[in-house]
Amino acid sequence: MIPFNLGKLPRIYFGPEKLAELPRLIAESARNALIITGTSSFYGSEKWKNLTDDLNGRSITYFHVPVSGEPSPDLVDDIVNQYRDKHPGLVVAIGGGSVIDTGKAVSAMLPKNETVKHYLEGFPGAGVHDGVKTPFIAIPTTSGTGSEAAKNAVLSQVGPVGFKRSIRHDNFVPDIAIVDPELMSSCPPSVTAACGMDAFVQLLESFVSTNANELTDALALSGIEKVRDCLVVAFREGNNIAARTGMAYAALMSGITLSHAGLGVVHGLASVLGGLFNIPHGVICGTLIGAATRTNIRYLQEQKSVNPFLEKYARTGALLARREYTPENRDDHLEFLVRQMDEWTEIFRLPRLGALGIGFHDVGRIITRVGNKNNPVALDREGIKSILLARI
Ligand SMILES: [Zn+2]
Repeated sequence: MIPFNLGKLPRIYFGPEKLAELPRLIAESARNALIITGTSSFYGSEKWKNLTDDLNGRSITYFHVPVSGEPSPDLVDDIVNQYRDKHPGLVVAIGGGSVIDTGKAVSAMLPKNETVKHYLEGFPGAGVHDGVKTPFIAIPTTSGTGSEAAKNAVLSQVGPVGFKRSIRHDNFVPDIAIVDPELMSSCPPSVTAACGMDAFVQLLESFVSTNANELTDALALSGIEKVRDCLVVAFREGNNIAARTGMAYAALMSGITLSHAGLGVVHGLASVLGGLFNIPHGVICGTLIGAATRTNIRYLQEQKSVNPFLEKYARTGALLARREYTPENRDDHLEFLVRQMDEWTEIFRLPRLGALGIGFHDVGRIITRVGNKNNPVALDREGIKSILLARI
């Protein structure tokens, strides 16, 4: 076995109606809380009214901040500057991955005086965060990024010199994650598909990561099994709680596996494309995964040395096909894997990059910025270019 380290995990409350635990959990640790939500589904719902009534009944002060879109450094700085002097004892984020990342970055920056840019990975002149933060509870309302279990928050500045960069520390793993699939039942089909594909890509990329281990492999495969059984059902029947529960589990596992094993070239591409173009992260990941997997398999097949990654891809194909993995049928399993992704692309009507405003003239400036991350094979520029060209 490969030696590994297991980092922090949140205290996890998982299952339908677990949101009911929140007022008690807030009351246990703070008298005042900063609550960040999205602008629509949860905020204004009956569940929001019940929550605020309960907090009022317990004489807990709360400050509410609604946010929309993927968080920028300026948004995080604005919230921190507005609420630092109120000394919230707790930050709670209830929403999609962007809302969770906003809350995570705000909780990390409330004890600091600098701009969050000062702690963004790879930002010129960036410093090292000491991990001291305001306690943080994450409550996802979509099944996708797995941010509720991950140690980083992704911030975006979109534009010609745009970027997507993380603020990251082991202590930024949320202290508590409440994963209640009932919160996801109002998520529209297109968002369900994009977020679900993000979770799948994160599970697959961490499974075939150069940094994977026995533990992350087990979690990744159990998450992929749930994607197989639940993603299309959740897309077609939003109120199917069993399917929503399966996808909530898959996304939660993906947050744990990506934090420990890392990701591959699809996320390398997504961080560049997400900085240059205003396209949802899950859509980018979903539309690229089929082409990226084909390219990875082609490069792996061309390698002379034996490596475990083709077998891992084949095992995933067998799992998705509900067949037992047999080495002699490896090519059939690989074929099933890529055909399954093509089928999902069609069912979910994932747009091509061309329909998202990315043209052939953009390819050059994209590929010079893309890193392989922990991709199972180091793709050269031709390999990365072939992924983009296949999906424009
Ligand atoms: Zn992702």
